[in-house]
Amino acid sequence: MPKRKTFTGGCLCGNITFRVEGPPVWPHYCSCSMCQKWSGAPAMGWVDFPLAGLAWTRGTPKLVRTPQKSQRGFCPDCGSGLFAQDDGSDTICLTIGVIDQKNSLVPESHSYRGKAPKWLCLAVPEPKSDA
Ligand SMILES: [Zn+2]
Ligand SMILES: [Zn+2]
Repeated sequence: MPKRKTFTGGCLCGNITFRVEGPPVWPHYCSCSMCQKWSGAPAMGWVDFPLAGLAWTRGTPKLVRTPQKSQRGFCPDCGSGLFAQDDGSDTICLTIGVIDQKNSLVPESHSYRGKAPKWLCLAVPEPKSDA
């Protein structure tokens, strides 16, 4: 688990910034069709944080509902995708790309790998076997 506890970040235009206290949990890629459509990229990087540790230090994200009983937040001015949150969850999943300190947030897995284009090459550990 990464040692760093406090992270900062913000959107492309700078109208939304945040600070979040760790520990970060489960940095991962996702290539589900929703992530690909939302980001315009073949994979998104995500990492969970305790919701209580998050503070918006500038601006307020705009929210969009998704079919999975969750919502996603983005900057209404520049469109940067900032987070996803399941209804009622006490964690919030931030996009790794908007976090300033990315180096310790090493993706551990790749969700919906089969939905990604076949040419996509991302280094992640092999899935762990429980055996
Ligand atoms: Zn923005
Ligand atoms: Zn996804």
